[in-house]
Amino acid sequence: MAEVDLEQLMNCALCPNMCRSECPALQAGSREAVAPAGKARLAAMAQNAQLEWSESLLEAVANCLGCRGCTIHCPFPELNLCDELLFSRIGAKPAGALPAWEPYLNNLRKYGSPYGKRQEEFRGAKRGGKVLFYAGCTALANNPASVEAYCHLFKQAGVDFQMIEEDCCGYPAETWGDLELAKKLASENRAKIEHSGAELLVTGCPECWQTFTERYPDWGLQLPLEIVDGSSYLLGLLAEKKLKPGRGGLTGPVTIHDPCILARTAGVISELREIVLAVPGLELVEADPGKEKTRCCGGGRMFQLSFPRTAEAVARKRLEEMPPAIPILTACPFCREGLKTGEGKVYELVEIIAEACPGDNCK
Ligand code: SF4
Ligand code: SF4
Repeated sequence: MAEVDLEQLMNCALCPNMCRSECPALQAGSREAVAPAGKARLAAMAQNAQLEWSESLLEAVANCLGCRGCTIHCPFPELNLCDELLFSRIGAKPAGALPAWEPYLNNLRKYGSPYGKRQEEFRGAKRGGKVLFYAGCTALANNPASVEAYCHLFKQAGVDFQMIEEDCCGYPAETWGDLELAKKLASENRAKIEHSGAELLVTGCPECWQTFTERYPDWGLQLPLEIVDGSSYLLGLLAEKKLKPGRGGLTGPVTIHDPCILARTAGVISELREIVLAVPGLELVEADPGKEKTRCCGGGRMFQLSFPRTAEAVARKRLEEMPPAIPILTACPFCREGLKTGEGKVYELVEIIAEACPGDNCK
């Protein structure tokens, strides 16, 4: 596991919260203890044995949605506060898990999914394809239509794809403090992925993409194939004319909510816009802030399960920043789930492309 960088944590602990306007946990909760530098101070004091881990200390330090919004104004380019907070509480064995997290950890142990549901078979997904589509437990449990949409588009584009019986990527288990369980799930996934013989892994969920590309190497588990996020892969199929969208059911103005991970970690920003503009009849209205300055939907770090009231408050704040009364398109199952908190329509981009590509290679 990555070690805490105490020097970076102390830099943050001594900062006057230059990023306070960007921290959704602080903005939603209005508690100084969950301000970025507030959390850093608490984590640093626990690290220095000046404070003992307790339930309230763990709750405060875990009040980070992993959105990396604090990096926008941070004067320390090497600091990744959300990782430092995660490493500091996981490294502190006595911290353990909050009682509210236990049912989800038990689901992970029993079913391989925090939602306690088993994956269904998806039409068209066979064994042995060169492209392995990994949908992720949140899409499988909450929006199987998006998984169907990916499968439909892969078939339309003639992609030789497969799916495996997925275990959760492991990120929720790490988030809830059980690193051993996270590594166990990751090992099981790696064995299945290796056995699949696939050459390319396409992820439907940005959290899974980040876990495979950042956390697995940190856990000593390098996956033996190229990894690409689903939006970039879909854009490739559009660019190669393997998908040719016609006018779909959704037309007129739409806006994009950029998922934090895609915008700030993967750098996938223009791709979402190119996908929207590939569908005839859609007009793009930008959200403010958007692109690399996007704000969290409330779904980061499993908050919809861990801290549902905070997740809802964060989602409502984000919805106030979206252009009113037009559909919101996003590219993450957590974002879709969070932004559904409002009254408006929210879709994953893949669903819109699938609707615009009904059959026979679209059109
Ligand atoms: S994350 Fe950066 S800007 Fe925010 S409080 Fe810490 S040091 Fe300051
Ligand atoms: S990663 Fe997001 S939630 Fe966490 S401290 Fe930074 S701004 Fe706040």
